[in-house]
Amino acid sequence: MRIGVISAMPEEVQSILDVLKNVKITKKGMRSYYEGTFYNKEIVVVFSRWGKVAAAVTTTQLINDYKVDEIIFTGVAGALSSDLNVGDIVIGEKLFQHDMDTRPLFDRFEIPLLGKTYFKTQQNVQLESAVTSFTNTIENSISKVVLQEFKISKPKVVQGSVLSGDQFIASKEKVAELLKAIPSAQCVEMEGAAVAQVCFEYEIPFSIVRIISDSANDEAPIDFPKFTKSVACKYAKGILKNYIK
Ligand code: SAH
Repeated sequence: MRIGVISAMPEEVQSILDVLKNVKITKKGMRSYYEGTFYNKEIVVVFSRWGKVAAAVTTTQLINDYKVDEIIFTGVAGALSSDLNVGDIVIGEKLFQHDMDTRPLFDRFEIPLLGKTYFKTQQNVQLESAVTSFTNTIENSISKVVLQEFKISKPKVVQGSVLSGDQFIASKEKVAELLKAIPSAQCVEMEGAAVAQVCFEYEIPFSIVRIISDSANDEAPIDFPKFTKSVACKYAKGILKNYIK
């Protein structure tokens, strides 16, 4: 079993590289693929770059050239559900491409020729418990000062719909519009449903894990670089460690 790990933040890749052993690096198409052992398990980790095309290219490469059996994607996302706060985690269940619209040829969101308006992940109980055990012991990975700074106390873990599109969402109007179209939406980002489409087409199991970094509107801006470095990175590494062990 070889796990492909895709991160949407270079800093998350770096945090995994810090503990990756027997590393072999290959460069293809503006990306560096790091093969190695992470807690005695074979993995390949790569920064996807941003957006659906970038994520699709990375996923295809991992499947074809690196022969991974499974893909885990980690990254940050904007909250759509008003129940979610910074630091909460969404495990993708249904992955939508919210900017796909080929009406009148097909329904809104339907992926042409696949007859699907979303891709479903298969349940991954091991991943769910890896995520929950990370959040239950978060103080072991992130200092109290940092947790307080981002108002993270007891992060929630939810499973639900994730919306992907080639847009950074930062307005109340757009959030309301997306929720109206897809009421089950939990969060919005730019890659998950592209990874899902490629994995569906190649019949490879995949999981999408998103850490809420913002509220997808102009309220409560956070220090993004600091959040990535001191929070999101710790999540990615900690969750992967729990999953693999
Ligand atoms: N703004 C950040 C960069 C994040 S941009 C910075 O200044 O460093 C893009 C990444 O964030 C993508 O991986 C995307 O999936 C994710 N993302 C986080 N919040 C988002 C939002 N509100 N809308 C769309 N993508 C978001």
